[in-house]
Amino acid sequence: MYIVMITPECAPVAKVGGLGDVVQGLSREMGTRGNAVEVILPKYDCMRYDRIWNLHRTYRDLWVPYHDQGVHCDVYFGFVDGLKCFFIDTHSSHHFFNRGTFYGHNDDPERFAFFSRAALEFMLKANKHPEVIHCHDWQTALAPVLLFDLYKPMGMSHPRVCYTLHNLKHQGVTGEQTLRQVGLNPAHYMTQERLQDNFNHRAINLMKGGIVYSNFVTTVSPRYAEEIKYSDLGYGLQRTLHVHGVKFGGVLNGVDYNVWNPEIDPHISCQYTIETLHDKYKNKETLRNRLWMHQGFKPMIAVISRLDHQKGVGLIRHGIFYALEKGCQFVLLGSSSDPATNNDFLELKHHLNDNPDCHLEIGYDEELAHLIYAGADMIVVPSAFEPCGLTQMIAMKYGTVPIVRGVGGLADTVFDADYASKSYHERNGYVFHDFDNEGLESAMKRAIGLWHDYPQFFRELMANGMRCDYSWNHPGRHYLNIYNYIKE
Ligand code: ADP
Repeated sequence: MYIVMITPECAPVAKVGGLGDVVQGLSREMGTRGNAVEVILPKYDCMRYDRIWNLHRTYRDLWVPYHDQGVHCDVYFGFVDGLKCFFIDTHSSHHFFNRGTFYGHNDDPERFAFFSRAALEFMLKANKHPEVIHCHDWQTALAPVLLFDLYKPMGMSHPRVCYTLHNLKHQGVTGEQTLRQVGLNPAHYMTQERLQDNFNHRAINLMKGGIVYSNFVTTVSPRYAEEIKYSDLGYGLQRTLHVHGVKFGGVLNGVDYNVWNPEIDPHISCQYTIETLHDKYKNKETLRNRLWMHQGFKPMIAVISRLDHQKGVGLIRHGIFYALEKGCQFVLLGSSSDPATNNDFLELKHHLNDNPDCHLEIGYDEELAHLIYAGADMIVVPSAFEPCGLTQMIAMKYGTVPIVRGVGGLADTVFDADYASKSYHERNGYVFHDFDNEGLESAMKRAIGLWHDYPQFFRELMANGMRCDYSWNHPGRHYLNIYNYIKE
């Protein structure tokens, strides 16, 4: 099958969070299964160019209709870890993708609406006729709308669209001018059945358009699929998901075990397996040395996360102090797109600077993340909500025990050591429910207690996590079924 991903992110070149990992992992899995996969991305100035092989201009002078004129683009091609990627480079005074950051600009809806149109224009001009186009999140939600209303009449009648919702909190709610700019007549779309926002009837909702116009809609875990349909985690799209319920379902994300795997990870100091689990501790030593932390007999608790309300920043903060009070070490790797939150954590870092049991790294560091997954004993994920969450699944692969709040994909993947209705060998972490300090403490206390008092049982929990198969194998099969279903 010929599959094209239209996406704002693809790890490792353009990654803000899990979306980037998912596009990379799913694309590679589809390729391994014998499909032809291509990825179309914006050519951001802030990408990891060192991770693109043989980048060169492959298509010159692509004129993309915008307003009443056209924007001049070129398309570049390169391999990213073996994946075929096309990068749309725009030459315009808007500097759409030359802003130094991926997101966070007032005109984000316009930037990505333009990208969606440019991706389709490129496919049309370059004569690409994939069987399936897979779009991701609000940024590319206009692609199915443009495909079925503008490009189909121009001859692109072939492709079917699968659309994945990675996070309902961000829907791309914007003014109708965004549609007009990319050549769509707003009057046609300003209805409840189409793109009109369910809260603000004067706004359009790009994500809603993606749901309405795609042939199949997925989200990133079965639990989250239920949550967004039946609770206010749908942020207003509950009714739309009900109306389109027959073409909607949750598929748990996978983890790319070619990238996240302690047996082959080049970024860690000592590779290990379940059989050589004692070698994990060499990574703990390396991590401590690298971060100037004390070497001693203490459990190491980690957080690797965007610092956002969704991720439970208040609880993360509390968790740091609780862990230190209980005689543990704590490492945090995180950053926020909100400067005030970054500053709060920088102040906290300053406050804890002299503590040899604690290190806060405020920023984004892919390589350090690998070493933390390998070196830590436990990872904390106290999310307010979590569509899927990759950090708990990656951590388990590294034998790092997750302590999570039982929501969304966290509830689908972590099973409590004491209370899960699963057999012992399927229990792999600690789960709490109340979104408050006491809730978090209740789970951390049990985890720390087991580490100290029953190390043998703690090691079993680590091994249970390592044995879980959260690779792309199962989700890859699900997605292939979906692609085949919509193709027919
Ligand atoms: P989300 O997509 O909501 O941010 P996920 O758990 O789905 O959360 O995915 C997070 C991904 O981003 C993981 O691969 C994690 O290792 C990575 N990550 C998060 N914060 C950082 C950081 N500061 N530095 C490096 N990697 C990070």
